[in-house]
Amino acid sequence: MSDARCKVCTHPERGLIEKDITSGMSNTRVASHWGMSKDSVMRHKRAHLSAALKGVIARRDTESGTRALDRLEGLYGRAEGILDAATEEGKASMSLAAIKELRGIVELLAKLTGELDERPTVQVLNVSTSPEWLATRDTLMRALMPFPDAAQAVAQALEAGEGRG
Ligand SMILES: [Zn+2]
Repeated sequence: MSDARCKVCTHPERGLIEKDITSGMSNTRVASHWGMSKDSVMRHKRAHLSAALKGVIARRDTESGTRALDRLEGLYGRAEGILDAATEEGKASMSLAAIKELRGIVELLAKLTGELDERPTVQVLNVSTSPEWLATRDTLMRALMPFPDAAQAVAQALEAGEGRG
């Protein structure tokens, strides 16, 4: 598909520009490299790329998303291990730090999983209702039982965060 008003379609080096677009270069970088607006690049990418090129982009995004998921899951496991160790050793502040990390990772995981599924609900995804987070929260609250002050602080912080989301 092409459009006579599109800066990319009418560009003599359209093939090279599309190569940049599908190579994973950001819209902004492609735009500044070829002296056009980011909007032109985005519009072309959305409306004028061939199905084959769109396939290239989708595959690349899925692959990099999957790699990011793997890494995040690895991090999650490590933070969980730290939480267990800190709880066993009765180190409340270290437990709290691990909990903060875990919550951030769960949020990222939820976001990333939503993006990979390409569900339109990703924008309104409420992490506080995701099963992973609810399970984590239960674990956290149990882990914090020996530290009533910390447990209370965490519960309050979570409530504030969930109300915001
Ligand atoms: Zn175009």
